[in-house]
Amino acid sequence: MAQDAGSEWRDGLPFFGGSAWLDLVNTTAVVDGAPVDFIAGLDDFRRWVKAAALPVPSPPDEADHQAALALRQRLREAAPSLSAGGAPPAPLVETLNGALAGLSASPRLEVRDGAAALRDRLAFSGPPATALVAEDAARFLCEYEPARLRGCASPTCTMVFYDRGRNNTRRWCSMSICGNREKVAAYRARKAGR
Ligand SMILES: [Zn+2]
Repeated sequence: MAQDAGSEWRDGLPFFGGSAWLDLVNTTAVVDGAPVDFIAGLDDFRRWVKAAALPVPSPPDEADHQAALALRQRLREAAPSLSAGGAPPAPLVETLNGALAGLSASPRLEVRDGAAALRDRLAFSGPPATALVAEDAARFLCEYEPARLRGCASPTCTMVFYDRGRNNTRRWCSMSICGNREKVAAYRARKAGR
């Protein structure tokens, strides 16, 4: 589920986070000073799950939607302390474990084009999309480097991302949004100062 590209639009939705759980967090954002929620309605959420390529057995229902909104809230609250290297807060751990309880995986040997591969076959007894994002977050928490988790450098942007680049120098959620905006602002400031 982790994407190495890190920064792209899919179906008009921002996938800048570098991890599914960060992309979920980024479904609430402040764009040009106004708060937007990209998954406010069930149809929006279904579109997001599809764009996120989460391997759900069927389009999410309203229970999954509500569970995802609750998980998003917890993740958003925890992001700053996680970025500072803090331990995952208890309410987040509890929410994640609640979602993970609905997910089970059994290993399955598959042979494709003569090559054997061990793959997980997923089964769900709870909200599937939320369980998959929770799994992404839980794996992330076990292995992430806090210094690579941060918010966009633009003071008016609320996006968060995980920098998977070798040099860890990424500053913006997206060059096409905040990166260019900042460059234009700097250019104007330089011109005005002359
Ligand atoms: Zn930004």
